[in-house]
Amino acid sequence: MNETQQRLIERHLDLIIEANKITNLTRIDSVEDGMLLHVEDSLSGLQEIQAAPEGLYGDLGTGGGFPGIPLAIATGRQTILADSVGKKTKVLDGVIEDLGLSDHVSTYHGRIEDLAVDHRFAFSVLTARALSQLSILMELASPCLKMGGQLICYKANVSEEELEHARELEKKLGMKIVSDRSFTLSDGQTNRRIIVFEKFAKPKLSLPRKVGFAQKKPL
Ligand code: SAH
Repeated sequence: MNETQQRLIERHLDLIIEANKITNLTRIDSVEDGMLLHVEDSLSGLQEIQAAPEGLYGDLGTGGGFPGIPLAIATGRQTILADSVGKKTKVLDGVIEDLGLSDHVSTYHGRIEDLAVDHRFAFSVLTARALSQLSILMELASPCLKMGGQLICYKANVSEEELEHARELEKKLGMKIVSDRSFTLSDGQTNRRIIVFEKFAKPKLSLPRKVGFAQKKPL
């Protein structure tokens, strides 16, 4: 990554910390913590997104634009940042404009279930951080992805049970785990795990289910 990209990524963090005083976007309120827990953490999935098929990238439940904006800047991919909360996507519209990213980054104000209808099978790669458990992410992502497209899940802790349940649903949802990497951030103590799913088949049920079902009535 070059200096311009680094500068843009840091400015995104500054703008979010500033906007956070008015709009609730993140628990993190210092640049120091943000550099670790937002910037470094967001970029920790760079190798996974670079290994994914070329094409449209989407960040599901983007909040303040993490990991979506740092990854859009680092990769230059055409990017859609999706969140159901309008005041969050509105802040991001301002950030995109300020950073001069409008040519390749835009927001989607709406639920992922609606994104899956409006941009059906359109995405080559998706990310999700701090959104839902793995099986729910698989269900939400599947109808958004093209065949061979990948879902990169940013996780802190994953229980054996959560992972087992995700594995059980692989065939049903047409999504299977293709990589799983655990590591620690540069503070030496923040544990992270990145699990990547690939859409390898058509799901065995019609997706998306009704709005809210994936999260409220998980499979
Ligand atoms: N990815 C960000 C924010 C995580 S909080 C980060 O890691 O910092 C989860 C976000 O997902 C919230 O902003 C919430 O509004 C959004 N969200 C939750 N369910 C959603 C859904 N079904 N569709 C769209 N956005 C959703």
